[in-house]
Amino acid sequence: MSGTFSNDDVRRLAALEMLKSEDAIRDDILQKFTLLASDLLAFPGCFVSVLDNENQYIKAACCLDVPQSSLHDAFCRQVALRDSLLICSDTLLDPRFSQSPFTLGAPFIRFYAGIPLYTREGISVGTLCITDTRPHTIDEHQSTMLELLAGLVSGYLDAWYTAGYKDVVTQLPNRQRLLKDIGLLQRASSFDPLTLTLIDCIDMPRAYEIARSMGMDAVETLLKALTATVRSRLHLSEEDVLYTVATGRFALLSRKNSAVNARALSDRLEHIRAQVLGDITIDVKIYVGEVSFVPATSQVTEVLRQAVSALHEAISQKQTAMAYNADSDNRRNLNFQLLNDLALALRGSQGLYLVYQPQLCLHTGKPVGLEALLRWQHPVAGNISPAEFIPLAEHTSLMDELTDWVIDHALMQLRVWRKKGLNLPVSVNLSVSDFSRPEFACDLAEKTRRAGLQPGDLTLECLETQQVLESTDACRGLDMLKQRGFRIALDDFGSGYNNINTLRRIPIDVIKLDRSLIQQLNCDPACEVIARHMITMLKELNYVVLAEGVEDLQTLASLQHLGCDEIQGFYYSHPLPPDKLEHWFSHMAV
Ligand code: C2E
Ligand code: MG
Ligand code: MG
Repeated sequence: MSGTFSNDDVRRLAALEMLKSEDAIRDDILQKFTLLASDLLAFPGCFVSVLDNENQYIKAACCLDVPQSSLHDAFCRQVALRDSLLICSDTLLDPRFSQSPFTLGAPFIRFYAGIPLYTREGISVGTLCITDTRPHTIDEHQSTMLELLAGLVSGYLDAWYTAGYKDVVTQLPNRQRLLKDIGLLQRASSFDPLTLTLIDCIDMPRAYEIARSMGMDAVETLLKALTATVRSRLHLSEEDVLYTVATGRFALLSRKNSAVNARALSDRLEHIRAQVLGDITIDVKIYVGEVSFVPATSQVTEVLRQAVSALHEAISQKQTAMAYNADSDNRRNLNFQLLNDLALALRGSQGLYLVYQPQLCLHTGKPVGLEALLRWQHPVAGNISPAEFIPLAEHTSLMDELTDWVIDHALMQLRVWRKKGLNLPVSVNLSVSDFSRPEFACDLAEKTRRAGLQPGDLTLECLETQQVLESTDACRGLDMLKQRGFRIALDDFGSGYNNINTLRRIPIDVIKLDRSLIQQLNCDPACEVIARHMITMLKELNYVVLAEGVEDLQTLASLQHLGCDEIQGFYYSHPLPPDKLEHWFSHMAV
């Protein structure tokens, strides 16, 4: 067997594989065809059979109860050999059939006529036959009718096949067909190495956007134009098969080491401009991901998964083409596993806990607040940093759960401390998705009230400032929180691009200068100038300025000199669990 699906024999086997599969609705319709043929032609027996290299499978029949037989015994084998209508008036007089078990035994066939069923590509996949237990002749009208019926059955099977295995818009074989084709090569124990290349031309959100603004016709025109361009640019050989596996996503199955590899392929597909409507075109950005595999030793769905992994790696790295890489795939799988574990940890409240880091006033030297920071003791991987697991949860529904978990536990701890006479506000970290939740401010106010606390007991640290500024929902959420009396702090200020003018649009009380700036204060004169000007300006705008990441006395002294209000950092204390923090306070003699 050849490595791919180029020759007719392999195509025929692929089509047969589909026909052999179970499909009750298809076989019910075939059954109706046999009843119709039997009645119309006035022959008691009629059946539709499919032949592979070993067996005959009867997919539908009337007056015949033989679901399967060996190819050797099958009358229809002679039809396949002849490749045209075969009429045998008396099987006992025909040496091809006279010794057949179906002539000599049940169903005692004496008359047989069979006609091949073809796919649209002209590949013979089965036979429509009529039979009788008595010798017979068949007139010209009957043979014409049999041919007509065979055309109908072929047409139906083609439509059934197209609906299941072809993409209606591009007319290319579809994803199911790709899986079947690889599966077929696997079952045939093919050791010829192959490459599966996925080509992404247009992502779903973009397709929806085009559909929304220009209608579905535009999307279909675009997909057809893309198919034609991809085909012509790739110069596919007889051996290569191109599939449509999703909207705007193609797959190419080719021999490994053929001229087609991800890089060469993406070069050929550069600068595609495809037609959408009339003379309107759009520029198409192509991403390519490929995986090489040996069919005999590969799992079909795994091959496709690896190709998808390579493609998505290319998309996320903004690389035009990438080959499958087991290491980065494993990393992503681990991240996915981690996300699942995080969901379990949040729901089972196991492994997650809060630590608290004091914030001190530089003018009085006294603690003025505590920042709650999340910790995760993973049952297998040990301690995982929030910098590692929080970005995984961001932009998933888990982020809401995570924030709620932190707030609930921080409020519980605050209640305990209030009872012990420790009266400091606690800061919690929130991201843009939290501020954007419509009910967030109301819910938080209610939770705080139920805990017997005041909104002023909580400070909300705003991470991802830029995204918050760009989101009207998040800005509205911040306003509502401020109106309800919560203090707002802006985290990590100075770590990216911050336009101070736009900051005026959100109601901030405290600005936290990022560690990256503070830690350079005494070694980089430019940082000192920036920090000095920032602190002066922020103070003039009436913000409370807190410096993060203060690790030594020298930095503390510089910040004091520059007029900074508050500091937080290892110099005073690492983030600590509640009992250790209480111990720290007892030594601070607050
Ligand atoms: P962040 O909010 O800016 O928190 C300050 C980080 O700096 C903390 O890291 C803290 O341990 C660390 N830090 C404090 N003082 C010093 C110092 O003097 N030197 C150095 N080198 N580091 C110091 P952590 O706890 O690993 O948290 C990292 C980030 O993860 C946080 O940055 C915050 O963005 C995020 N995060 C932590 N907990 C939560 C949470 O409950 N919710 C959300 N949404 N994000 C959180
Ligand atoms: Mg923070
Ligand atoms: Mg920070």
